[in-house]
Amino acid sequence: MKESITSPIWHPFTQMKLASPPIHIERASGAVLYAKDGKQYIDAISSWWVNIHGHANEYIARRIAGQALKLEHVIFAGFTHTPAIELANKLLAILPPSFAKIFFSDDGSTSVEVALKMSLQYWQNQGIFNKKRIIAFENAYHGDTFGSMSVSAKSAFNAAFEQHLFQVDYIPTPNESNVENVKEQLIRISDSGQVAAFIFEPLVQGAGGMLMHKPEHLDELLRIAKEKNIVCIADEVMTGFGRTGKNFASEFLTHHPDIICLSKGITGGFMPLGVTTCTQKIFEAFLSADMSKTFFHGHSYTANPLACAAACASLELLLEADCQSRIASIMNSHARFAEEIKNEKLVQEVRLQGTIVAIEIKTHEGTSYFNSIRNEAYGFCLEQGVLLRPLGNVIYIMPPYCIAQAELERVYEVIKDLLNFLNKKYSD
Ligand code: PMP
Repeated sequence: MKESITSPIWHPFTQMKLASPPIHIERASGAVLYAKDGKQYIDAISSWWVNIHGHANEYIARRIAGQALKLEHVIFAGFTHTPAIELANKLLAILPPSFAKIFFSDDGSTSVEVALKMSLQYWQNQGIFNKKRIIAFENAYHGDTFGSMSVSAKSAFNAAFEQHLFQVDYIPTPNESNVENVKEQLIRISDSGQVAAFIFEPLVQGAGGMLMHKPEHLDELLRIAKEKNIVCIADEVMTGFGRTGKNFASEFLTHHPDIICLSKGITGGFMPLGVTTCTQKIFEAFLSADMSKTFFHGHSYTANPLACAAACASLELLLEADCQSRIASIMNSHARFAEEIKNEKLVQEVRLQGTIVAIEIKTHEGTSYFNSIRNEAYGFCLEQGVLLRPLGNVIYIMPPYCIAQAELERVYEVIKDLLNFLNKKYSD
């Protein structure tokens, strides 16, 4: 029997019947994970995209420790605390200027739930009861809770719950050849007058396969959505905090969203935290003497002071010149690497955005999360001491910004070795 089945722990996104026992990590530092059996792994995916400054970062760790000795948590309804106030101010200082309020939750999925509920109630509070529909992109991924699953693409991830998910209007992500058609689809759906919100992952659709679209195309859609009086929600859970080369992907756009969801990199990967930020206009629709217009949402750990302290420290590090120049240097390195491998026989496409590089591998099975190349590639890279977690036949690198140049070069080497290995195997 596989050891995984006898473990008391049920791991996420894992077929426990087939999975190898999980790798036991004892400690980590910078971009490197140290396992109990003495092996080391370069964390080239920032541990599910959360870790932006490296593991066990001392600056963040000390801030959490200091906060823990002062105030670990306090109910956030009727009470407040310094780390939350400080974080809200720090975030608003770097978000697009139209953003005015910060609402806290626990993770990416809950930040999306909050955004959806906010946008639906925004219309109801104004006495507009027919705006209930939501538009989302095909191939979207917004989380694993019911609302966030509903606005995600229908896939094997949520098939078991399909009957319980609410209906969404999907439009394709725009590209050179379909943009006019996508605009027409958006106009047609919007002209019903029933659309409450449009939710999208700006520039990069992460779990959908690191699919990328251009800001000018997304901008066109936002212009239309805004004209049609639709609340625009940017899910920046993955793209936030420098991932796309700017602090937020929304900075590449001229038409800004009304709501932005943040999580993942917000605490530097130390603590779970979600943020949903909105404009003054959205906030004002909830101000009333009528209690039913209140936003009745809040989790026990809302604005946890340790998480907020970690986020303040992480933001300070992100804005330092040293971190910004590391981001620029990763972008340059990725661009060189992309150029080097783009004509390899097995490479279908290389996609680049900021600190993310994605390589789509050509296979006869076609592109899919369940492509059999996935397990082979995952195992090969781990064996070589590099943690990559391919999305089917899409291999991507999303490193902590502190990754040393030599470590990044090692990750590139391992991917080149993998391509050679696959090439040999499948051309024999
Ligand atoms: N939105 C996006 C764009 C994501 O990539 C993810 C997670 N991969 C989520 C939401 C959900 O975040 P979490 O896993 O923290 O709930």
